[in-house]
Amino acid sequence: MRKITIAIDGYSSCGKSTMAKDLAREIGYIYVDTGAMYRSVTLFAMRNNLFNEDGSIKTDELKSRMNEINISFKLNSETGRPDTYLNGELVEKEIRSMDVSARVSKIAALPFVREALVAQQQAMGKEKGIIMDGRDIGTVARVEDKATEVRRAGFLI
Ligand code: C5P
Repeated sequence: MRKITIAIDGYSSCGKSTMAKDLAREIGYIYVDTGAMYRSVTLFAMRNNLFNEDGSIKTDELKSRMNEINISFKLNSETGRPDTYLNGELVEKEIRSMDVSARVSKIAALPFVREALVAQQQAMGKEKGIIMDGRDIGTVARVEDKATEVRRAGFLI
């Protein structure tokens, strides 16, 4: 069967990620959690001492090390949902910590971080058979098939 990329746009906390995860499980696609990707970069920065004491980011250093960051998702057969891996290490729990949550928006505001992650998302989109959510997925990331495909799959959104 032909695999497509499904992108779900929407405001924060409107239920799109729950819906995306459930839909992915239902139709056997991989769910790409874009928030988890920003969280993973944040964890990398924390572990590598790329935050200053005042909470600001050592941006030049982070920029030069972006190519050391590899984020991937693997389906967890127990939960039926994908787990996040940072350079091959399972970080699903750690990226949801308070420390990461408190710092992620600063990381996500950096244009070079957004560019790198959007490029990774586009590459994942080319492989097909994935569902992504997130604020700029349907627009900036420009994957081809948007929420209409979700409707075609029989889901009301
Ligand atoms: O969705 P989640 O709370 O895991 O996202 C973590 C943070 O990542 C958001 O608060 C936001 O700062 C950032 N984010 C973003 N663009 C996205 C997804 C998440 O800037 N597409």
